[in-house]
Amino acid sequence: MANGRYDLVVLGAGSAGIAMAVRSARHGAKVALLEPGALGGTCVNVGCVPKKAMWFAAELAEAQKTAREVGFDVQPGALRWPDFVARRSAYIDNIHAAYRRRFDEVGVELVAEPGRFLASDRIATPTRELEAGHVLVATGARSQREPIRGGELGIDSDGFFALRAAPRRVAIVGSGYIAVELAGVLRALGSDVSLFARGERLLSAFDHELGDALAEAMRARGIELAFGRKTAAAERTADGFALRFADGDVADGFDELIWATGRHAVTSGLDLERAGVALDAKGFIVADDWQDTNVANVHAVGDVTGRLALTPVAVAASRRLADRVFGGKADAKLDYANVPTVVFSHPPIGTVGLAEHAARALHGDAAVKVYRNQFRPMLTALAHGSEKTRMKLVCVGEDERIVGLHMIGIGADEILQGFAVAVKMGARKADFDATVAIHPTSAEELVLM
Ligand SMILES: Cc1cc2nc3c(=O)[nH]c(=O)nc-3n(C[C@H](O)[C@H](O)[C@H](O)COP(=O)(O)OP(=O)(O)OC[C@H]3O[C@@H](n4cnc5c(N)ncnc54)[C@H](O)[C@@H]3O)c2cc1C
Repeated sequence: MANGRYDLVVLGAGSAGIAMAVRSARHGAKVALLEPGALGGTCVNVGCVPKKAMWFAAELAEAQKTAREVGFDVQPGALRWPDFVARRSAYIDNIHAAYRRRFDEVGVELVAEPGRFLASDRIATPTRELEAGHVLVATGARSQREPIRGGELGIDSDGFFALRAAPRRVAIVGSGYIAVELAGVLRALGSDVSLFARGERLLSAFDHELGDALAEAMRARGIELAFGRKTAAAERTADGFALRFADGDVADGFDELIWATGRHAVTSGLDLERAGVALDAKGFIVADDWQDTNVANVHAVGDVTGRLALTPVAVAASRRLADRVFGGKADAKLDYANVPTVVFSHPPIGTVGLAEHAARALHGDAAVKVYRNQFRPMLTALAHGSEKTRMKLVCVGEDERIVGLHMIGIGADEILQGFAVAVKMGARKADFDATVAIHPTSAEELVLM
């Protein structure tokens, strides 16, 4: 068994692991990066990147309809799905190649094997034993199914990316961002979509007006939404898939069934108990604000910690950890407040800061003032569409500091980033008022409320 001593051993080459490995190596650390699967982890292979590619395809499908509405003499065509997937895969292959070049350039040693703990400072792979000054656990999360009869039937988001055609009739179970994103893509690409939510609204963790507005927009696109549906069983029938609910109702005749019912940390097989690393009640690794676990020199970043499962969060937290441990920046840590998020639904959602209900709970009703705006974007109006863009500012205190900014509508995905800078800097409503609008845009409405 080959041995080696490293300043840092990283378990997992996803968003978190790669960022930590590269930044640490740039600081001069000797780094081994362990990854048994595809480079880039969830985001690159079965998450953000292929999802955004499918969202672009769906946007183009909708744009063809809009073009026809405004007077173009075109018939919206169907997507040649396998051809598009080939482009998507080629794009992802390029990312893999870029990672490999970067590892060579900075001197990260890639080991294409899984790792597990022998002790807090010793990691074993099937062929090697590595001594580690520091270990980063960045093994991510995987989707989880309902623990019900038939829960193994159908597919999850990984399976969605293996599809080579739009299913004719599809059932999606879930109400979080992955559920609504896949529903929107499939509908735009021609599927009949039914979404079954356990609770009473979509995206319940976000400002409630966003989920409610999205539900309206999804219904207007022909997506069937059912709330308060607790799935009790899934079955295969002569007619396809059927879902049985706790109240005895049945929905059937689906060609595909997609579970979007949450994700769990990947910790099995890591032998964490040999290092003594603690998990929380949901099985995520407990990491503090410094990304330290309860064990000295064992760190955890990204989805495995269950904290804001987003790629840029994983990357930013890892880079700061690397700067602290190997770069001499003793104070480097990620501030998890005001992280902007986009949901690539149709239409997209952009949100940063506190939801109105969260602001009221934190600051009290009297301190909170909300500004709202809704309008038909110009292109929608030209196409005689009725869908409205909605925007909302949640302000707090005498000086109306903006603690939450929420929007749903065309362009929200690209508008948000700049406004997130302003919110992060502590912008007041008066700062927005003092900013001259860019006309005619949708974004200008945020400074004209
Ligand atoms: C469908 C979907 C869409 C998403 N869309 C977005 C989006 O639009 N924007 C966004 O910001 N985020 C999005 N996310 C979330 C984002 O993908 C994750 O937050 C991010 O990938 C987390 O990175 P990570 O490094 O923590 O984990 P991962 O990327 O999951 O990487 C973990 C890696 O660890 C490896 N591993 C597992 N066990 C071992 C072991 N024993 N030894 C070594 N390696 C191991 C795995 O093979 C994997 O490659 C999406 C996720 C999904 C599922």
